[in-house]
Amino acid sequence: LVDDVVTARQSLELGLPLSAPHVAQPSHSYDYLIVGAGFAGAVLAERLATIGKRVFLCDRRPHIGGNTYDCFNEAGILVHKYGPHIFHTNSEAVFSYLSRFTSWRPYEHRVLAKVGDMLLPIPINRTTLNGLYGLELTDEAMAASFLASKAEPVEHIRSSRDVVVSQVGEHLYRTFFEGYTRKQWGLDPSELDKSVTARVPTRTSTDDRYFLDIYQAMPADGFTRLFENMLDHPNIRIETSLDYRELLKERIAPRTIFSGPIDHFFEHRFGPLPYRSLEFRHETLDTEVFQPAAVVNYPSPDVPFTRITEYKYLTGQVHPRTSISYEYAKADGDPYYPIPRPENQALYKKYEALARQRADVIFVGRLGTYEYYNMDQVVGQALSTFRKLNNSAANEKAA
Ligand code: FAD
Ligand code: UDP
Repeated sequence: LVDDVVTARQSLELGLPLSAPHVAQPSHSYDYLIVGAGFAGAVLAERLATIGKRVFLCDRRPHIGGNTYDCFNEAGILVHKYGPHIFHTNSEAVFSYLSRFTSWRPYEHRVLAKVGDMLLPIPINRTTLNGLYGLELTDEAMAASFLASKAEPVEHIRSSRDVVVSQVGEHLYRTFFEGYTRKQWGLDPSELDKSVTARVPTRTSTDDRYFLDIYQAMPADGFTRLFENMLDHPNIRIETSLDYRELLKERIAPRTIFSGPIDHFFEHRFGPLPYRSLEFRHETLDTEVFQPAAVVNYPSPDVPFTRITEYKYLTGQVHPRTSISYEYAKADGDPYYPIPRPENQALYKKYEALARQRADVIFVGRLGTYEYYNMDQVVGQALSTFRKLNNSAANEKAA
């Protein structure tokens, strides 16, 4: 048996070393073990491979791509397994880096919120105000003074409630934010950091795009294909369906890059860090179009899900049927969102201090650094981590 033709799992079961076939000494056959094949792990694998490092990349899921993973379902429609992922960034560096691995389909994301029988643009804009209140606000100044008349000043803006109420007042807050946030996070907005709802701005214009970033586009052949292109390098060995804990006895590499949950790595020494999890109900319908926008949000507390996504809007695919997913938030299950609030940040800081004592492990990504990051921020963080690694290697050589 040569290593090339057995998977890592088979090697482990057979008690064989996980060495690269051309390396006589089985320990430290790779320069890096990278845990997690999402954007954080994949970008670092690609960068390190390119400068000649040998990388062993594992993911406990049966695929690469992390939360951005997309695939064709049984109907032949491209869907995002873990909910809608829309690429947007203001970073030219991130966009041009990713452009090495994909071409793009221009795409501007739009979201509607279901309020009673109405479907209204979210973020709140002039159309939202006119639709909800039966007004005729015809310019930005009129909308601004209407919002000013509704806004309720808050002296210290700390929570996700403060940030919205201070801009648009109690009624709009309750209509669009209170119920959605309680469902999404299992917490009242007053218990969440202001940064959460501050992600969704308020507008006086009629611009109904969800994001205003300079670059907004979807990978032309999907995220998974982007990852396949990124990881297609002879120095990268990929093993999916493999939890890094199964590798702990193997001396695979002197250094580890870890993009899983940081508290898991340290076996919850200070107690578990809270994450919010999700469940998706995927459906394919015998109709060409289901809803008038890619995503419809359901802020009402009477509806159990938070939003419905119709994937063909994101991908541009033409198909006689359509695939949608309902999104339900829950406490237990795979970690999807770090929960931004002061006590969680304090707990994370304790893990971060432990992490600093481990020169052999680098923590990255949304779960590794417990940050509510978008994809582009994770790519940016991975690129800057690589620069630091590369510089310190260059300094060691020079010394
Ligand atoms: P992940 O993609 O989570 O990858 C971490 C990987 O580590 C996972 O694949 C996991 O299986 C693996 N792993 C964990 N533990 C282990 C272990 N013990 N052993 C082996 N492997 C392990 N961002 C945007 O920019 N635009 C969007 O529209 C957008 N929409 C989103 C919608 C949803 C529902 C969610 C949840 C997130 C969204 N994001 C969006 C954020 C985006 O998903 C993240 O920023 C990005 O995917 C994080 O990449 P990552 O590599 O840090 O983490
Ligand atoms: N939010 C809300 N109502 C909405 C949209 C967003 O209350 O219609 C709040 C909610 O707390 C959500 C947060 O704003 O978690 C950030 O929204 P975003 O769309 O950025 O969430 P994500 O796509 O990361 O799930």
